[in-house]
Amino acid sequence: GKGIAVFTSGGDSQGMNAAVRSVVRMGIYLGCKVYFIREGYQGMVDGGSNIVEANWSSVSCIIHKGGTIIGSARCKDFREREGRLKAAKNLVENGITNLVVIGGDGSLTGADLFRQEWPSLLDELLKTNQITAEQREKYKFLQIAGLVGSIDNDFCGTDMTIGTDSALHRIIEAIDAIVSTAYSHQRTFIMEVMGRHCGYLGLVAALTGEADYVFIPEWPADPHWPELLCKKILQERQAGQRLNIIIVSEGAIDRNGDPITAELVKKVVVDNLHQDTRVTVLGHVQRGGNPSAFDRILGSRMGAEAVMALMEADETTEPCVISLDGNQAVRVPLMECVKQTKAVAQAMADKEWEKAVALRGKS
Ligand code: ATP
Repeated sequence: GKGIAVFTSGGDSQGMNAAVRSVVRMGIYLGCKVYFIREGYQGMVDGGSNIVEANWSSVSCIIHKGGTIIGSARCKDFREREGRLKAAKNLVENGITNLVVIGGDGSLTGADLFRQEWPSLLDELLKTNQITAEQREKYKFLQIAGLVGSIDNDFCGTDMTIGTDSALHRIIEAIDAIVSTAYSHQRTFIMEVMGRHCGYLGLVAALTGEADYVFIPEWPADPHWPELLCKKILQERQAGQRLNIIIVSEGAIDRNGDPITAELVKKVVVDNLHQDTRVTVLGHVQRGGNPSAFDRILGSRMGAEAVMALMEADETTEPCVISLDGNQAVRVPLMECVKQTKAVAQAMADKEWEKAVALRGKS
């Protein structure tokens, strides 16, 4: 059977374990040898005990856990050819020619580059007697399949990334908890949520947590936002509401591109309305805790589909990302999605917000 390795790279997210479990079990079911690579690309470069064969029971009891049991890392070495050469040697030694990479756009970009370089890496290993001619021939193709693990839902080409739904559960729990205390004391709470340049978490949190106001990067605030915000809050209070919730995405900005922070919003509310106002920055709590049912299923389906894609691939097959389209697991071209995701980031940086939203499309 084929040698498949699975690894998680970049920021962790809930549901990665479900994906790892599914890759291992689907791979074994189809007669493959499946390996874990621990600590992302660092483990691939370092080799040794970082690359271990998995069996059916090594993924028992992990589907309910947040984070990733095989570890994740950011790895400088893999950005250099020297590092990728070591990684290639470690894969060949273990008979691995198929990779399931679970990570963000950076991790997928690295995987694509590695695949393109693979023949020349093997040539170099052969020339320096680090592998045999037989190995050079036997392992001549590297196949990759990507899964997007990210709480931000910031990847083009998939409706949902693995971890977003669980992060929303954490945010909603926090808002609900805050609402009860805010009600008692008639307070205004400003909650900062994650998402980098993507406002998905902020927007959905605001809608489902009944927030009064939300700031997201894709919809930069009107220059008069302090007046608009205060007017809205005052209106709510005058209508009998005992509390206010304001959501600020971490990448929120105004139309000049200047950041709108939770502290800035607090200052506006305190200076103008003299309300008892508190800031809660949810931070890494959002990445923690158990994955939701949705993320467990999403990770499981994506993992199984990734293995199927690798089984069906030949040397002419373009690398794919497994994504969710409606309720379907589909294969989409990896580099097109990465390119589009990067174009969105660029449009945001260029303050072309409408273009960014149009480019993001279904993500
Ligand atoms: P997140 O969404 O959490 O940031 P990510 O996968 O985008 O996840 P990165 O830090 O960008 O996170 O990338 C993770 C790792 O992938 C890097 O530490 C590096 O080892 C590898 N990598 C990223 N970009 C490249 C690249 N252009 N060439 C080679 N390797 C890369």
